[in-house]
Amino acid sequence: MDIEKVLSVLVDEVADYQVPVVDLIAVQTRDPFKVLVATILSARTKDEVTAVASERLFAKASTPADLAELSEGELQKLIFPVGFYKNKARYLAALPEKIALFDSQVPQTMEELLTLPGVGRKTANLVLAQAFAIPAICVDTHVHRIMNIWGYVDTDTPLQTEMALREKLPEKFWIPVNSLLVSFGQGTCRPVGPHCDRCVLEKQCPKIGVIPRKTKKKKSADENVVRLVSWNVNGLRAVYKKGFLKSLQEMAPDVIGLQEIKAMVEQLPPDLQKLKGYHGYFYSAERKGYSGVAVYSIKEPKRIIKGIGDDRFDSEGRVLTLEFADYYFVNCYFPNSKNDLSRLDFKHDFNVLLQKFAEELAREKSVVVCGDFNVAHKEIDLANPRQNVKNAGFTPEERAWMDDFTGAGWVDSFRVKHTGPDNYSWWSYRSRARERNVGWRIDYFCVDAGSRKKIRDAGIYPEIFGSDHCPVMLDFRL
Ligand code: SF4
Repeated sequence: MDIEKVLSVLVDEVADYQVPVVDLIAVQTRDPFKVLVATILSARTKDEVTAVASERLFAKASTPADLAELSEGELQKLIFPVGFYKNKARYLAALPEKIALFDSQVPQTMEELLTLPGVGRKTANLVLAQAFAIPAICVDTHVHRIMNIWGYVDTDTPLQTEMALREKLPEKFWIPVNSLLVSFGQGTCRPVGPHCDRCVLEKQCPKIGVIPRKTKKKKSADENVVRLVSWNVNGLRAVYKKGFLKSLQEMAPDVIGLQEIKAMVEQLPPDLQKLKGYHGYFYSAERKGYSGVAVYSIKEPKRIIKGIGDDRFDSEGRVLTLEFADYYFVNCYFPNSKNDLSRLDFKHDFNVLLQKFAEELAREKSVVVCGDFNVAHKEIDLANPRQNVKNAGFTPEERAWMDDFTGAGWVDSFRVKHTGPDNYSWWSYRSRARERNVGWRIDYFCVDAGSRKKIRDAGIYPEIFGSDHCPVMLDFRL
């Protein structure tokens, strides 16, 4: 990509976007101390939260001397709920004493800035650039990510990106590049589900490692393709209140399999008991508010099969199968092996039986097995493989079954179409994992070996919210 042209295009493009909070504070105050403090607060925090917290703090402390008057506890209260507010309060409490070593002025070199509490390279670069207009490249997650998407750098870490950019990015862009790409990364080229459909750079962008958000369009009129979607909704009543019907409209599935509906059919709102345009089928767990699966289909199936013939699993409402003329749609909620792995054996028994069940069906016609498999198969399927080797969902035992399953010929449709990392379908609710895209790909569409050629498209809808999982999809040629 011609970087001069691209960044010039972005200058116009982001003119109406929201300005990153630290830039705004820099422009409004021209005060290095405030820029430094706002930058410390902004790490791993949404701009809106940083803006409010900074305002509250600056009303009490707009100089190092004011700051020194506040206790750590008072600072915590003032800056809550910024990310890691306790750590940041500790840094701020220690800041006046450290700044005193520089005549109570914010220092103007990288080396000196790095001696201040809570200041890393990214913060130091931003302070140099925004507070002192010294050429420095602040590489945050957006700059690192987008520069790699464009193929302008090929790096693994923000530090490597900074070094690569120092080598090749024209100096006139060093200061503005962060602001440009933060605005652009928050507005269009988002970490999950980037809006390539409306991007000014759509034509020239190589989209390295990117899966653009899925549009409603799925097939040309002459193709016999069905759009199949699977979604662990983590409570059907809950997701209904969070825009389920709108999401359904956006995805426009022919068939959608839902897991963890956590409700009996009579507990659902009328809209869901009889979903407009769809036939609905439900298989709830005996225990109220637990597990359960459902399938909505535009076309009426020939046959419904509830369960897999073992009461240990069927009482938990884990598998619901619809038979159509050309294929079976098997919607599954695989057991979780639990944090203490106490259900590992139970899960393994389920896996083996499910596989046998699906293989029986595949003797007759195509079979699509979808759902929350509760396992990330390979290292590429989760953000932190090393830390999770002994954890539920990534144990060697669970992965070994997935090896057996795919080894027997079942095809993970997503990997047929996408080989890149950073594609996930589940994120913990903790630590803003979804925002940081620290996730796991544990929801799948698998097809029998003979149906591999019927996979027309496969994907993930990370931009669809409402659950800790997002939906996954398969466009399946009949
Ligand atoms: S085309 Fe897509 S990936 Fe490329 S810059 Fe635009 S939004 Fe980002």
